[in-house]
Amino acid sequence: MAKKHISKSQYTRGLQCVKSLWLYNYRKDLMEEVSPSTQAIFDQGHEVGEWARKYYKGGVLLAQGREDIAGALKETRELIAEGKTLLYEATFQAGGVLVRCDILRKVGKAWYLIEVKSSTELKEQHLPDIAIQKYVLEASGLKVEKAFLMVINTAYVKDGPIDPKKLFKIEDVTEVIMGVEAEVPATLKHFFKILANEKKEPAIDIGAHCSDPYQCDFCCHCWKNIPAHSVYNLPRLAAEIKDDLRRQGILELKDVPEEIALCSAAADYVAVAKTGKPKIMPEPIREFVAGLEYPLYHLDFETINPAVPLYDGLRPYMQMPFQVSLHIQAKAGGPVKHLEYLADAKMDPRPDIAAFLLEHIGPAGTPLAYCAGFEKSVIRGLAEFAPRLGKKLLALAERFVDLAAPFRSRHVLLPEFCGSFSMKAVLPALVPNMTYEGMAVANGSDAQNAYKALLSGRLTAEEEAQLRKDLIAYCGQDTLAMVKVLAWLSDAA
Ligand code: SF4
Repeated sequence: MAKKHISKSQYTRGLQCVKSLWLYNYRKDLMEEVSPSTQAIFDQGHEVGEWARKYYKGGVLLAQGREDIAGALKETRELIAEGKTLLYEATFQAGGVLVRCDILRKVGKAWYLIEVKSSTELKEQHLPDIAIQKYVLEASGLKVEKAFLMVINTAYVKDGPIDPKKLFKIEDVTEVIMGVEAEVPATLKHFFKILANEKKEPAIDIGAHCSDPYQCDFCCHCWKNIPAHSVYNLPRLAAEIKDDLRRQGILELKDVPEEIALCSAAADYVAVAKTGKPKIMPEPIREFVAGLEYPLYHLDFETINPAVPLYDGLRPYMQMPFQVSLHIQAKAGGPVKHLEYLADAKMDPRPDIAAFLLEHIGPAGTPLAYCAGFEKSVIRGLAEFAPRLGKKLLALAERFVDLAAPFRSRHVLLPEFCGSFSMKAVLPALVPNMTYEGMAVANGSDAQNAYKALLSGRLTAEEEAQLRKDLIAYCGQDTLAMVKVLAWLSDAA
């Protein structure tokens, strides 16, 4: 049966792509499963929502959950009739749209609508999200005098218990959404016309809109014929040109025509794909290797960056390390010593990590990291927190050399890299017997989720022990991979 109602999130889905709206309503079986990293974003959104309710405390949270729509609508009507002036998750339906409002506050005879986001600033995609709520509220007979967006304040530094008044910043968007509000009726008409035909999937091509502003969860359906490494991976090539190539049936890098103007990086990727031969420049590689001074310290951090800081001195979304892996090599070709630290999730790991770094990375030699800018910024963050050790930590950060440099500058480029210089792309090409496949923790976001599970305190002793083992195996693999990649570079030089 054709759809008569959509939710607020379906409205914003439809704005990104009407095909996604149609698929969501009639072919949900084609939707991707929610990945652990997407689930982590949802969980964070819920946590932020709870803190927002502490900012506006004393309100009534609807007892009816998302499943019982009729119950939530009735409960909202009753609470308003009873004269309640602060509601969380108030639910309304009008004009074929169902909305749940994060926070609704009555001031005098009018209502203030407050939308909570985990973002750090107002973004264009927030506007229709608020506009559709205002439209539905007004169609339900409420006078909405003002609309606000509540986002995370990155200037907040935790000092004692979380202060919700400082954690958030609030922007009056009443005027900003006016233009978007005016478009709501016509947009809804268009959406219901599309949804009226449940047999006809809208003919929408793939393109940049599939990940902008949000990653679409029907990519596994619409992009199924696009290889994992295709013209879409080429850097600095206009989205329209990539779409044009696809329409001509050109997907593989090796098939990109000569006449297409490419930036130098993309041209190099295409050149190695066409010849199938690696590009290796011994002279700059030699210079890079010769610039390293033994002992070498191969370092990797695992970090989390929650919206709501865990410990004093942290700001929202600031990277906090919880694990370090360090492989030390005293001389070229010599044995490698491995050291590691994994935080006990019950305490702030920063003092231990700062001490670990200063104890094990000596004053001579070269500390290395892959894409070292990240490790440097984490160490600078530690210096901010531990002023007593601050100077030493800052000096250490300055000494880091980026092992990714020869790959970023394409002094080494293999067809197997497929347009990427990430360790996950480079390692299997250079060291085929080392792989992350099959590891229980196989990437940074797995590691973050594992540490969050440890923080939750909800694991059994066995589950905790297993997760710690998996984390140690993963982080150790990252720095051992660096040792192997450097050995490859030394051989190639
Ligand atoms: S993957 Fe792209 S084309 Fe397909 S539904 Fe999503 S946004 Fe639309």
